[in-house]
Amino acid sequence: MTNRELWQAVLAQIQFHISKANFATWFQNTGIISKKDEIVMVSVPNAFSQEWLSNKYNKLILKILHSVDSGIKGVEYTVKPRVVKVSNFKSFPENGKLDTEQLEFEEFQINKETNLNPRYTFDNFVIGSFNELAQAASWAVSENPGLTYNPLFIYGGVGLGKTHLLQATGNKISDNFKRKKIKYISSEKFTSSIVTSIRNHSIENLKSDLSSIDVLIIDDVQFLAGKDKTQEEFFHLFNTLYEKNKQIILSSDRPPNAIPKLEERLRSRFEGGMMADISLPEYETRLVILKTKLQEKKIELPEETLEYIASNIKRNIRELEGALNRLLIYYKLNDNPPNLEGVKKLLKSFVFSPFNIVNYRKIIETVAKFYNLEEKSLFDPTRRQEIVRPRQIAMFLLRKELKYSFPAIARKFGGKDHTTAIYAYKKIAQENEENDKLTGEIDLIKQKIYSG
Ligand code: ADP
Ligand code: MG
Repeated sequence: MTNRELWQAVLAQIQFHISKANFATWFQNTGIISKKDEIVMVSVPNAFSQEWLSNKYNKLILKILHSVDSGIKGVEYTVKPRVVKVSNFKSFPENGKLDTEQLEFEEFQINKETNLNPRYTFDNFVIGSFNELAQAASWAVSENPGLTYNPLFIYGGVGLGKTHLLQATGNKISDNFKRKKIKYISSEKFTSSIVTSIRNHSIENLKSDLSSIDVLIIDDVQFLAGKDKTQEEFFHLFNTLYEKNKQIILSSDRPPNAIPKLEERLRSRFEGGMMADISLPEYETRLVILKTKLQEKKIELPEETLEYIASNIKRNIRELEGALNRLLIYYKLNDNPPNLEGVKKLLKSFVFSPFNIVNYRKIIETVAKFYNLEEKSLFDPTRRQEIVRPRQIAMFLLRKELKYSFPAIARKFGGKDHTTAIYAYKKIAQENEENDKLTGEIDLIKQKIYSG
């Protein structure tokens, strides 16, 4: 058996053990480069894959390797051929001064050709475990557009940096490859151009324009849901570009398999490259983000203020920025930073916004929407799996997030026996531990519940 055949046999089995998204993310562009002294050397595309495979999947890989060839005793991972670089951050200045001019709304020139905003760069993009894979993949793509990961699909909740990352990638490519034609388009804009050009009989012009692009970036592709004509045109455009090794970069608020009303053939194209998610930053990272933003504006605020913001504003990065800007406006008007009491007052609406109050309605609404169901069908007395599962997830969240009692949950779901609620909770809780796809879905649903 050649190394290639051996690895094929391993991959074939691994697919049964992990979700499709994880498989695409972690096993794409891997291979066996050598087998010496009963040790298999696996090549991986970047340092993050190396870490993940050796920490998370090593046991599984070794077990399967061993089952195919019992002589194998160990496995190691090596990065090949490109090492992903991570951008450096300048340290926070010791004595930052208030520069009020910086507080003026910064009008940046958006490039008319590319639609790229130079404000978004890798340099001002903070990396933490919540986004490191997405950042690394984007960086790799910017070094070798069309050849590393195609398409690159970034997904995650609102305000977590998808647009920033897509734009930074576009900007970096435009620096690295001056002659490449790059285009950033939102899904809405893309859809409206298609619709307008059909109406004006200029669709052929639009198509030939789009197919001459070297790097096509489409933001928020979840909005293509249900837009059949746009999806059809996009499918052909995708194929045209892909066949010419042109880079395609996409973002969405959820993974392809969770986008409702998306044609199967598009879904499988989206899943065919690298998928990377962005989740929520943890406390330390929120603090670093705040400091980075202040550094950009050349302003300092007391540490306790930053700690207060970082511990109370958790939903997303856009809100962290919003809170910071509110304090900076106060600072500018009063020539002094607010004290902690003042900070608490100024940020009251962020910290105690109604969105923060999660309730029963919010959970039901969010779960139904996520699975593209009508709310009332969650209560249908049916055993259809496409309903049973979301219903169990809703029950699980009511218990977990709102601490509802099992009888209370049962009452909400049409007076079912409370053992049904217990069963649902246990089943989802257990699967949540074992099934990465479900964990990802529940994370996304929670993000939506907490982000209003
Ligand atoms: P999304 O497209 O996911 O809704 P955005 O890219 O618009 O989110 O990000 C919201 C705001 O947060 C932007 O101003 C962006 O610059 C900032 N931001 C997001 N992620 C980061 C990050 N990792 N480091 C620094 N700023 C970030
Ligand atoms: Mg966005």
